[in-house]
Amino acid sequence: MSKKLTAIIAGGGLGGLATAAALARTDWDVTVYERQSELRASGSGIYIWENGLKVLEALGAHDQAVEGAFRGTHFEQRDNRNQIIESAAIPADRRLITTERRQLLAALRDAALGAGVRIQTNAEVIGATPRGELQFASGETARADLAIGADGIWSKVRQALGLEQVHEQSLEGALRTMIPAREGDIPAADSSKYIENWNGTRRLLITPVNKNITYLALTCPHTDDKARNTVVDKKLWSADFPQWAHLIERIGPEVSWGVYSVIKCRAWSSGRTVILGDAAHAQPPNLGQGGGMAMQNGLALATVLQNVSTQQAIPDALEQWEHNERDIVEHCQKWSTLYGEVTFLPDDVRSMVIRNAMANPWVASQIFRAANHTPTGSERVPAAA
Ligand SMILES: Cc1cc2nc3c(=O)[nH]c(=O)nc-3n(C[C@H](O)[C@H](O)[C@H](O)COP(=O)(O)OP(=O)(O)OC[C@H]3O[C@@H](n4cnc5c(N)ncnc54)[C@H](O)[C@@H]3O)c2cc1C
Repeated sequence: MSKKLTAIIAGGGLGGLATAAALARTDWDVTVYERQSELRASGSGIYIWENGLKVLEALGAHDQAVEGAFRGTHFEQRDNRNQIIESAAIPADRRLITTERRQLLAALRDAALGAGVRIQTNAEVIGATPRGELQFASGETARADLAIGADGIWSKVRQALGLEQVHEQSLEGALRTMIPAREGDIPAADSSKYIENWNGTRRLLITPVNKNITYLALTCPHTDDKARNTVVDKKLWSADFPQWAHLIERIGPEVSWGVYSVIKCRAWSSGRTVILGDAAHAQPPNLGQGGGMAMQNGLALATVLQNVSTQQAIPDALEQWEHNERDIVEHCQKWSTLYGEVTFLPDDVRSMVIRNAMANPWVASQIFRAANHTPTGSERVPAAA
């Protein structure tokens, strides 16, 4: 019997855990190194489109990730007069659910542990080499047949390998928070919708997560000092979105603020070390696909490596994986960035652009291309033993 190939992964986020679970299910020996003292999701709720749900199904993490989660039927944009700009129905075969990030992370963690993955916390990676090595702040080095950097936007693995080509930060950012949901918060006729409300360069996105929690994202340019205050100026936001003042009122004492990163790399691997997820291809959240792309790429990587039985064959397989997956990822990055551009248009022009864009079948197909994509390996990963 041939020896198991080994993989070491920097980062226990969505990308790292999905990759770990997928590799372990194809009989790799996998260890995840996470810098935090425990696996912890940053942020509040998360959108998972059809492609991401298919990955979760393939990893055996779907049911836990979506238990009690909200499944919307429409994605609606409204203007500064609370008039509907567009209300797009979400087809039944293109599911979109919203869940708590920590629930999704727990489902991926359990899938990984169930497949035999080891997870080591308090393990900060500070460097990597193309020889499948990760270097730690403790001074230690771990070696494996394959090393993976799934260590997010500020990836030390990407930096060590010199792969970065572009790292831009957006002019816009988001305050994200969860509030308790109450009966009647959203009028019954709108209760199965995701509602994106615009007013000038400010936006309030209302996302039911489950019957107890609603996720609010309040976005604005990073130069909008009043609106981006992490002690949310409820008066200001309620004046912009009076119809939702009862939700804004429920925001807690302090919330988190962050701008978005776009990362592009000249390659996703060097030798036997690879990067994926935000480390390789972070994108603005406008299409709700950054996490989906991270999980999808992890499964695709494990799928291409399924046919590899020697260390020597790994670099070619990594190139093949990048060749297969790069197009859909970059497409998604491009359209997510484009969507963000409407922030800076005058209200009436924005409404016209959104309406015309969504009525154009070609534009709509570009926006939903990732959601419609069947992730590599989503039907082929064998069930865990
Ligand atoms: C406002 C906002 C809203 C979003 N909404 C959505 C959405 O609705 N749907 C969606 O699909 N995506 C969304 N995204 C994108 C999504 O959050 C990311 O694409 C996703 O989290 C990427 O996963 P990752 O595992 O690559 O990175 P991360 O989630 O950043 O995980 C990286 C992990 O690595 C660890 N780490 C970092 N550095 C080190 C180190 N040096 N050593 C060891 N460990 C380390 C971190 O602690 C973390 O656990 C959103 C992003 C933003 C900013």
